[in-house]
Amino acid sequence: MQKLQNYIDGKLVEPASKEYIDNYDPSKGEVYSLIPDSNEDDVNDAVRAAQKAFPEWSSTSKEKRSEVLLRISSLIEKNLDGLAKAESRDNGKPISLAKAVDIPRAATNFHFFATAILHYASESHSMGDLGFNYTLREPIGVAGCISPWNLPLYLFTWKIAPALAAGNCVVAKPSEVTPMTAYLLSEICIEAGLPAGVLNIVHGYGNKVGAAITSHPDIPLISFTGGTETGAEIAKVAAPMFKKLSLELGGKNPNIIFEDCDFDKMMDTTIKSSFSNQGEICLCGSRIFVEKGIYDKFKTEFAAKTKKLVVGDPTDSNTNLGAVVSQNHMNKILSYVKLAQEEGGTVLAGGEQVSLPGDYARGWYIEPTIIEGLAYDCRTNTEEIFGPVVTLIPFDDEEDLLMMANSTKYGLSATIWTENLSRAHRIAARLVVGIVWINCWLLRDLRTPFGGVKHSGVGREGGFEALHFFTEPKNICLKL
Ligand code: NAD
Repeated sequence: MQKLQNYIDGKLVEPASKEYIDNYDPSKGEVYSLIPDSNEDDVNDAVRAAQKAFPEWSSTSKEKRSEVLLRISSLIEKNLDGLAKAESRDNGKPISLAKAVDIPRAATNFHFFATAILHYASESHSMGDLGFNYTLREPIGVAGCISPWNLPLYLFTWKIAPALAAGNCVVAKPSEVTPMTAYLLSEICIEAGLPAGVLNIVHGYGNKVGAAITSHPDIPLISFTGGTETGAEIAKVAAPMFKKLSLELGGKNPNIIFEDCDFDKMMDTTIKSSFSNQGEICLCGSRIFVEKGIYDKFKTEFAAKTKKLVVGDPTDSNTNLGAVVSQNHMNKILSYVKLAQEEGGTVLAGGEQVSLPGDYARGWYIEPTIIEGLAYDCRTNTEEIFGPVVTLIPFDDEEDLLMMANSTKYGLSATIWTENLSRAHRIAARLVVGIVWINCWLLRDLRTPFGGVKHSGVGREGGFEALHFFTEPKNICLKL
């Protein structure tokens, strides 16, 4: 069975413990490879390697750094098929999705930041005859990057690429649930000629490797994407050490549909924003608010379309939803469907585990599920489920809608469907979230600020926001 390895100081190495963790193929519910069960010793080695590499990497010209990162981007593109297959097997997502979204985006992340750094300028503030100030934006040192399992290579590279482009060295930890493409990335980095120690990838559990990264005194900044509770744990450790923190956390996003929307466009996109990647995208619209005048029409058509979605073998190009990522996660999602029924909800579509034939009989599949009839403030409507489960909530008053949409502890993203431009802007301005899509969903321009408010996170990724995070500004004042 394949044993993955850590990537430390430019080499693929065994974990200090020599112990390994089972890695599952969710589509078959079986172990197919082994992940290093690393600990503090491996993190310490990785930090030492990164510290050793930092003086040279941080003083390498940005043009040279850019060249190396562009080579990594090209190699990801060249290995699209293999990486997409690996991502699908590791995560359970349809291979078609990995091929169209996850892996191209990972290549784009490197390409984007490899070129963004060439345009990154710092500020100068003139004081007229008195003097002037200029601001240096310098790399900080060893950055800790910790990522989740839902978009494994996509989110891993979204942190690593800006950190490296800005001249930092990195100690990174992918999710132990989906480590494979991070491992393949280490092979790519070696092939691309990334200098030893610039990027180090340590595999293993969050409470060992993640905690060792978070608490390491020589890692002054942490970029984390994952659950809100884990984010709170990390903040508790990092805050008294005065680390710079970027936290991208959970969501419970409203999808708001007005009567005057372009119905067909809205319906097509709402199917995607509800069930893409088995609903395991932090930006999925899990609470669907529908204006009363079209509630019945929406409900009938949405349920009919949802029932036609194919849950199946992730390698089959006809599959719409593959497996959810783990047995634990499947049980968690199904427990929310049960809770919704206890809370008075009616299941309009789905709600059950799916059993596939043959090799896939032990895989972890769930029907795309729609629930209606719940109070806006019940647990099902306020807690993150992170699976193919959405709820329908009718509304007929804008104030009421805004109160309900803003009523959870989360504030990541929202979608609005209306042809009334004034209303779209009015509602967008009053939604307490970090990202609003009007008449679209997940349309991404990588230059824009990305992140959430309230319990959805602290800080922003994307474009120059990310380069600001991964650099320290230093103001220099000169009196004339
Ligand atoms: P998670 O919080 O369980 O794990 C995320 C990462 O943190 C993993 O690598 C894990 O090993 C590590 N970790 C766990 N405990 C740790 C600790 N004590 N110290 C340091 N690291 C630790 O999240 P998950 O289940 O992998 O991912 C799902 C969550 O991620 C959902 O809540 C989802 O909304 C969120 N998410 C948010 C965004 C965003 O951009 N806001 C994007 C994707 C996913």
